[in-house]
Amino acid sequence: MKLKFLGTGGGRYVTGMQKRKTAGILIETDETKIHLDPGPGALVYANQETDPEETEAVIVSHAHPDHSNDASAIIEMMTQAYDQPGAVFANKTAMEGHADLEKVISEYHKDLCLDTKTLEEGGEYEFKDLKIKSQEMFHGDPNTQGLKLSTEEKTVGFWTDTEFSEELLPFYEDCDIMVIYCTRPRDRPIKGHTSIDEVPDILEDTEASTAIITHFGYAMLDTDMTEEKEWLKEQVEPKIIFAEDGMQFPGNRSLGDF
Ligand SMILES: [Zn+2]
Repeated sequence: MKLKFLGTGGGRYVTGMQKRKTAGILIETDETKIHLDPGPGALVYANQETDPEETEAVIVSHAHPDHSNDASAIIEMMTQAYDQPGAVFANKTAMEGHADLEKVISEYHKDLCLDTKTLEEGGEYEFKDLKIKSQEMFHGDPNTQGLKLSTEEKTVGFWTDTEFSEELLPFYEDCDIMVIYCTRPRDRPIKGHTSIDEVPDILEDTEASTAIITHFGYAMLDTDMTEEKEWLKEQVEPKIIFAEDGMQFPGNRSLGDF
């Protein structure tokens, strides 16, 4: 499995100003390519920086624009432009709407896909050589899903937008790699999001050898990121990587080499 970070920004200010891109993460396995959380810019950078004809599915963790804005455009790219059967895995709000959050994937776009699945607490799904598991997180969109993607070789956990809670930890115990959406620096937490000082607790019970921090919010990008990174490295055992736009992990090797 390989990860390509098309975008590493998060939150409304970074999204609005494009201080970092908000184009999501491409997950590549031996058999398929999936676009996770395609925010604004995802369609453009999928075409500019990847082999777009290879994308076969889209995953949406929740219905906020920095995770879902380009989902319909990516579905059209897959199914119309590049003739893939197309599959969409999205949380309930993205599929059906919730309170004043409108659904983001229209019936028309669902119909373009051969397969559509609603991600829910305790859900287990399969796509090609990838197993997808989901659990409910604690975020503004109450149906937000955390994810675990596994091939036979490796399991990658995605700690998506959420407030920290110990309840969320057991799900990630068997992960080899953790990708942590961490919008905030130390000592500047906000409700519904994760900050750097919580990362050690997230990693405490996992078997992960590497943690990749991404989805940086404005306050984070405005702070001394090197200092945040050095502090975090001293607290935890796993290798810490702060993602950059366009970064591929692991470099040119398959995760299986680690
Ligand atoms: Zn969100």
